[in-house]
Amino acid sequence: MPTTPLNLDGATGLVDGASAVIAAALVELKKRGGPDQSQNLAYDIAHAASALATARAALTYGQHGDDESRLAAAFLALALKDLAARVLGHEQSWGVSGAWFGPFADFVSTYGDPAFLASLATVSGARHLGDDFQPVAELFHKFADEQVRPHAEHVHRTNGDIPESIIGGLAELGGFGLSIPEEFGGFSTGGESEYLGMVIATEELSWGSLGIGGSLITRPEIMTRALLSGGTQAQKERWLPRLASADVLAAIAVTEPDFGSDVASINTTATRTDGGWVLNGTKTWCTFAARANVLALLARTDPDRTKSHRGLSLFVVEKEVSDSKGFLLSQDAHGAGTGRLEGRPIDTLGYRGMHSYELSFDNWFVPEDNLIGGEDGLGQGFYFQMAGFENGRLQTAARAIGVMQAAYEAALEYAQNRTVFGEPIIDYELTRVKLGTMAAIIQCSRQFALEVARLMGAGGGTVEASMAKAYVCRAAEWVTREAQQIHGGMGYAEEFSVSRYFVDARVLSIFEGADETLCLKVIARRLLSQNN
Ligand SMILES: Cc1cc2nc3c(=O)[nH]c(=O)nc-3n(C[C@H](O)[C@H](O)[C@H](O)COP(=O)(O)OP(=O)(O)OC[C@H]3O[C@@H](n4cnc5c(N)ncnc54)[C@H](O)[C@@H]3O)c2cc1C
Repeated sequence: MPTTPLNLDGATGLVDGASAVIAAALVELKKRGGPDQSQNLAYDIAHAASALATARAALTYGQHGDDESRLAAAFLALALKDLAARVLGHEQSWGVSGAWFGPFADFVSTYGDPAFLASLATVSGARHLGDDFQPVAELFHKFADEQVRPHAEHVHRTNGDIPESIIGGLAELGGFGLSIPEEFGGFSTGGESEYLGMVIATEELSWGSLGIGGSLITRPEIMTRALLSGGTQAQKERWLPRLASADVLAAIAVTEPDFGSDVASINTTATRTDGGWVLNGTKTWCTFAARANVLALLARTDPDRTKSHRGLSLFVVEKEVSDSKGFLLSQDAHGAGTGRLEGRPIDTLGYRGMHSYELSFDNWFVPEDNLIGGEDGLGQGFYFQMAGFENGRLQTAARAIGVMQAAYEAALEYAQNRTVFGEPIIDYELTRVKLGTMAAIIQCSRQFALEVARLMGAGGGTVEASMAKAYVCRAAEWVTREAQQIHGGMGYAEEFSVSRYFVDARVLSIFEGADETLCLKVIARRLLSQNN
């Protein structure tokens, strides 16, 4: 087992070398007609590139010290092994020769060695958040520990509602206004730090609970980004301060029963009427729709379907707070008949507390002031919504990191206290390798998410946000699965939180861009265009 610190210069060269392998594969992908024609290749490239991007951020982190460099080295070895597993037997379609792995072999055998990984079982590594953001982490960690965790099991097991004390407490901490500029009543001062507070707070809240903590601030974040990207000055002044203070809680209504990944094809219509628009159609999976006061809703304003996404516009749809078990709302006539909005809850495996709904709109009236961007926003809704989702993807990566951290801590504690065959299971190599691998994945994913937050604050980072989401949401499935496995039979018992982490983690690679479509339609496409 190596005892000397990682040679970061050499490791950077390996990431460059692996990036060259990705570049060669992108050339092949292009020759084969691109992501839609060679889906498997495109998917593997997207995931391998996402792991490598994470490894690159890990190497910067590794410069902080010995523990940090060991975690970074372990992560890079994992990323290279992952790349090898994807390329093996497919060298031709990756555009490499059979000997391509040679330059990486020594590093992987040294830092992927079981004894090395086992040595990291209890090494979480410092986060290095800096003087400005360490207090943010501590503040939200304390809130998650004292206000969120005590309710998490009960809400999960009874499919209950998020306690109002959590919503109110989070509002007092400023949690809903982290990305809202100060001029609109939020706490963002712009620049590099604009997204950092959001990422750090989201991780801590998700450590408390994905369902009743970390996901609460996702919706206002998405709506905020959409408003900042497309809203008129009057709309920003009207909605952003109320979102920041949580006087208004938001839900996002984009997905429809027939169109989830294929957002551009949605059917819900908004038709002009006196003083506004009427909505007709069905949305589904609208999370938090009952408790929310407003929905950010994407609808077709141009009946010409050939215009695809260019026929879509985004609305702020006001509604009253409703019963989480299901609701039927009605409006007075607005020249278009009486509007109705029905919400049917969809029971889920995990991620409980916010509740998701199928929403049926029947002549539901929306005043013209609520068309985001006003007349200039007509046909622009898809772009405003996507701006919101880019932010949402980074935030979902942070949610996954919080869930993984909770699962790792639970597994570590259980392994230290459970004795089997006369030994605490933490003393077994297999357990230690699992924990060491988790520690490397969690810290390096966190560092990548922080890096992406800085990039987004500087006006870039959109493909990196998708990469962070793609990598970490799959990783969270493995981490929570192994954390559950370390608990043996008790991992399957509802009374142990780790069973909740496992079912909660499963949703992460489904929403905010299903893993496959995110890899094919966003990451592979962008990598291809950058590779030209
Ligand atoms: C708990 C939960 C909460 C949610 N909250 C919200 C919310 O608040 N607001 C909202 O609008 N939506 C929400 N969603 C919806 C979510 O965003 C969608 O489920 C997601 O976008 C996938 O759409 P879909 O379910 O229609 O799957 P589909 O689009 O039907 O996809 C099914 C499968 O096919 C794969 N696939 C699709 N296209 C391709 C392709 N071209 N090539 C290969 N594979 C492909 C997908 O990756 C997926 O694995 C939520 C979903 C869940 C489960």
